[in-house]
Amino acid sequence: MEFNRELALEQAKKYDSFYLYDEKYIREHVSELKEAFPDVYFLYSMKCNPNTHVLKSVIEQGLGVDAASSAEVQAAREAGLSKNQIYYSAPGKTLADIENSMDFSVLIADSLGEIKRIQNAAEKRGTVLDIGMRINPDFTFLGGKGAPAKFGIDEEQALEFLAGNDCPNVRITGIHTHLKSQELDETVIAKYYGNLLDLADRLQKSKMVSLEYINLGSGIGITFAESDKPVDIKKLGAMAGEAMAKFRREYPNVKLLIETGRYAVGKSGVYVTKVLDRKVSRGKTYIILKNTFNGFVRPAWSVLVEGYSNEEFPPMKEPLYTCKGAFDFIPLKDGEKCETVNLVGNLCTAIDAIAEDVNMPHLEEGDVIAITNAGAYAAVITPMQFSSQERPKEVFVKTTGEICVS
Ligand SMILES: *Cc1c(COP(=O)(O)O)cnc(C)c1O
Repeated sequence: MEFNRELALEQAKKYDSFYLYDEKYIREHVSELKEAFPDVYFLYSMKCNPNTHVLKSVIEQGLGVDAASSAEVQAAREAGLSKNQIYYSAPGKTLADIENSMDFSVLIADSLGEIKRIQNAAEKRGTVLDIGMRINPDFTFLGGKGAPAKFGIDEEQALEFLAGNDCPNVRITGIHTHLKSQELDETVIAKYYGNLLDLADRLQKSKMVSLEYINLGSGIGITFAESDKPVDIKKLGAMAGEAMAKFRREYPNVKLLIETGRYAVGKSGVYVTKVLDRKVSRGKTYIILKNTFNGFVRPAWSVLVEGYSNEEFPPMKEPLYTCKGAFDFIPLKDGEKCETVNLVGNLCTAIDAIAEDVNMPHLEEGDVIAITNAGAYAAVITPMQFSSQERPKEVFVKTTGEICVS
C-alpha cells in the first residue's frame, strides 16, 4: 500500500484522527477500468464512500452513479449528473423515495410490490416511466442453480410479470443484477458477466421487453491480505470482451453498465490515528489510539469476528469482514519493531481493540499510525456517534496537490 507519508504526518499535526484519500489512486484505478472496458459505462457505487470530493472526482472521470437511497440520488444530481447517469437500486424504496427520485434517476425496481408502487406514482403524474428491474437470476455468482435472495425479483417471477405486464404506466427497459462483491478471480467474474449477457439475450428473444441497458453489477475486488492476488483488470477486460462484443453485434444499441465502489476508491484511503497514551499492565503494553472502533470500525470488527469464530479462516461478510490480516498498521516512525503491543482505542469499552500482540517500534504519545484499506466501506460503516467523541476528519488530496478537508 502506497500513500503519502509526509502528508499524513503533516495533517496529523492538525488532527488526531482522520481519513486521508488520495485522488491519484482513484484516477489510476478508474483509468484501468475504462481502458480495459472501452465499451462499458461505469457507475460509482457511492454508498462505499459518499465524500463529496471523492464523488466529484469520479464524476469528473466520466462515471455515473449507482445510488442506494434517494439522498444519494440527490447528492449525485447536485454533483452535476443528469437522470440517465444515475441509477437508483435498493430494496424497500418507499413511495416518498420513488416520488423524490423519479425525475432525477433511473429507478431500478427491487420487487414486484415496488413495481406497483412505481406504477401508482407514475399514474398519479400521468406519465409512463421507463424503469429497470433488479433480477435475482436462476444462477449464482459461481454458477449453479439460483438461490433465494433478499435482493431483486426471481428470474421466474420477472418472466411471469413481463408476460402479463398489468402496469400500463411502467415500461421495463433495463435489467440489473448484483450478486457478490470482492471477487479476485477474473475467470469467475468474466463467467458471471457472460451468464448475464445470456440472460439478457433470452429476454430480448422472448420479445417481452426491449432492453436499453444491462447493468452487470459489481464483483471486482481489491487486495486485503498480503497473499491476495490482485484482479488483472486488463485480462478481465479481454476475457469478458469477447462475450460483450458478441452481444454488441446482435444488440448494438443496448448499453452495458458495470458498477464499482471498492475498486475505484478502496485503495485510495488510509486512516490515520494518533497515540494518546501508552501503559503497561501486568507485562502487556497497551497503546491507546484516538478513535478506532468509532473512527474506522473494521479492524476492531475483525478482532471480534476472529475471536468468536471456531474457524481458522472465518468466512467473508462484506462490507464488515473480509479476511485475516486485512489491514496493515503502519507506524509513521522510524525504528526497529522492537516491542509487542496491543493497539486499542480511547472508548470506554473493551471491544475497542484493533490489534493484539503486534510488533511496533517504541510508540509514545503523539506518534502516528496509518491503517490501510480505508477508502471504501470505512467512514460510512463506522459508528461515529458512539461515546460522543469528535469525529475523524476526511482529508482529500487532489492530484493538483490541493487539500480539501471535510
Ligand atoms: C454495494 C453495491 C455495489 C458496490 O460493490 P463494490 O464491491 O463496492 O464494488 C454495487 N452494486 C450494488 C447493487 C451494491 O449494493
